[in-house]
Amino acid sequence: MKFTVMTLFPDMILQAASASIMGRAIEAGVLEVEAVDFREYTHNKFKHVDDYPFGGGAGMVIQAAPVYECWQDIVKDKEKKPRVLYMSPKGKVLTQQMARELAQEEELILLCGHYEGIDQRALDLIVTDEVSIGDYVLTGGELPALVVMDTVSRMVGGVLGNQESAEDESFSGMYLEYPQYTRPRVFEGMEVPEVLLNGNHAAIDEWRLEEAMKLTMERRPELIDPDKMSIKERKIYNRLLEKDR
Ligand code: SAM
Repeated sequence: MKFTVMTLFPDMILQAASASIMGRAIEAGVLEVEAVDFREYTHNKFKHVDDYPFGGGAGMVIQAAPVYECWQDIVKDKEKKPRVLYMSPKGKVLTQQMARELAQEEELILLCGHYEGIDQRALDLIVTDEVSIGDYVLTGGELPALVVMDTVSRMVGGVLGNQESAEDESFSGMYLEYPQYTRPRVFEGMEVPEVLLNGNHAAIDEWRLEEAMKLTMERRPELIDPDKMSIKERKIYNRLLEKDR
């Protein structure tokens, strides 16, 4: 999968993407990350990309031309134009499901704003999706773009190694993930739950499901849809509801 990031800070993208699991996937040729500096597409001698907003108000706005010309250059030889994701607090909030859907694409372009954002006309011309990473405002779209790339690339075959898994984790189903433990068996006087030590996989699965449900009921009850539960899940769910009364 290829990500092309349109940004004023290409080093920020390339440095972060070269570390850890994404870095390994890039080296293995499973992922490709390119960062294009749209400042290079300005025609003024000081390479300014921003100007005052029409209508007044605080802050500066990134001009349409450098963004549009940069995009034209990126897509000029492509038969199929990739989707362009504009990182924006006004966008649709990123979810695991959205990441899974985006991972079906072979290529994505991510556009990072700065200052007060980008002239709407450039957005109207090139953007297919507006994506927010949460209800707060950051100074630029680079961290959101890295968040999107990180979560999308985990869904791409060959990115996660044996030590990592996208199965059974929080948001892969209806529940947050159950608690995890590793050696030693006793830490600071605290024991690993007995059920995890006896090799009874049915009991372990049931314990994990119950813990996942408990955690989700406590922290994110809106994720739970009883209509989508299996008979076994419903039994545990009803038992937990009873206990709560
Ligand atoms: N004036 C804009 C508004 O009120 O919606 C905020 C602009 S913000 C200071 C600058 C840039 O950071 C945005 O253009 C966007 O690319 C990025 N950004 C900030 N917060 C974000 C978020 N929660 N999700 C995605 N991108 C964000």
